[in-house]
Amino acid sequence: MSVKYAKRMDYIKGSAIRELLKLTEQPEIISFAGGLPAPELFPIEEMKEVCVRVLDTDGKAALQYSPTEGYMPLRKIIAERMKKSGVEISPEHILITSGSQQGLDFCGKVFLDEGDTVICESPSYLGALNAFKSYLPKFVEVEMDKDGMKMDELEKALQANPNAKFIYTIPDFQNPSGITMSVERRKKLVELAVKYNVPVVEDNPYGELRFEGERLPAIKHFDTEGMVIFLGTFSKIFSPGLRVGWVAASPEIVRKYVLVKQGADLQSNSMAQREAAAFVQMFDLDAHINKIIEVYRKRRDLMIETMEKEFPEGFTFTYPNGGLFTWVEMPEGVDAAEVLKKALEEKVAFVPGGSFYPNGGNENHCRLNYSCMPEDKIVEGITRLGKVFKKL
Ligand code: PMP
Repeated sequence: MSVKYAKRMDYIKGSAIRELLKLTEQPEIISFAGGLPAPELFPIEEMKEVCVRVLDTDGKAALQYSPTEGYMPLRKIIAERMKKSGVEISPEHILITSGSQQGLDFCGKVFLDEGDTVICESPSYLGALNAFKSYLPKFVEVEMDKDGMKMDELEKALQANPNAKFIYTIPDFQNPSGITMSVERRKKLVELAVKYNVPVVEDNPYGELRFEGERLPAIKHFDTEGMVIFLGTFSKIFSPGLRVGWVAASPEIVRKYVLVKQGADLQSNSMAQREAAAFVQMFDLDAHINKIIEVYRKRRDLMIETMEKEFPEGFTFTYPNGGLFTWVEMPEGVDAAEVLKKALEEKVAFVPGGSFYPNGGNENHCRLNYSCMPEDKIVEGITRLGKVFKKL
């Protein structure tokens, strides 16, 4: 067979790591590789009531086609909730998407032609990098420190790439590093976006999962010129299976996203949108989020404590104040993908960090997830990993 594929298919590759990670599905493996919410916290009983209510009160519409922009009561709920991070936006400027992953893909579709530049954090979320890669861009990575993307480095990147199409950032409890961008830098980022006329894509699935301290204003809070495109989702605070996310942006930009959504899937799932709205109306989403926070905070504490005890010198890690991940830096020259093979022999898994750097390098990192493992397994798994590290 010699069918001719699009050029983009050369850039979308299954990785060897994916193959290794398939092994992590075996029950005897303690896996810190995934990025899944804890399934025992899903509000299953409440959702039974929600589904019945939606079908009883609004069944015909729930099973029918619906507007591309999304279910208005849900858009209103989202606009109201976004006020908590200092964003005043009207429901009309919100487009419901099938998870924020679809929003990421649309960023590529709306902004990127082949060879265009995307500026991103180094490291950055693999799923976003892969979504953007379909549009054949080049990536310019900006270094981070404990306060997020370094703004002087970002300005240099903008000067060197004046035609960059957008700056992609995950400001809260970043995937993969767990790092949060400081308030000063959020302000500065918007200033730079305006100065260089390059929009910001603020991808924020984790902001509401803060374990301590005050919630920070979104980058979009500082946006007076319509330069920030905010991507949100119910995946980590409620259920990823529903696939309900959103894009919040200026009317002009949202219009473009609506046009590409019409081509992609016409609309997001009518039933799921109503379910998400009904859950918020019938139950207390914030109380539910607090339950998630309690559980994840304990798991984070236990993981960090055990890492402090069990990891040898030369292995450093971030201390996330929320979200799902911590990020380990191994000594220079260590290849985390090779370490993973050894870890799997000890029946413990993680994601090697190299693939979070779109231009390669930095193989000596790994991402650890703490949201999805019970406490005893966290201690056991990190102890095993410590053993593997000590042998290196
Ligand atoms: N952005 C980031 C940073 C993520 O970590 C994820 C999920 N892992 C997504 C977007 C996509 O989430 P969803 O499509 O479920 O909303």
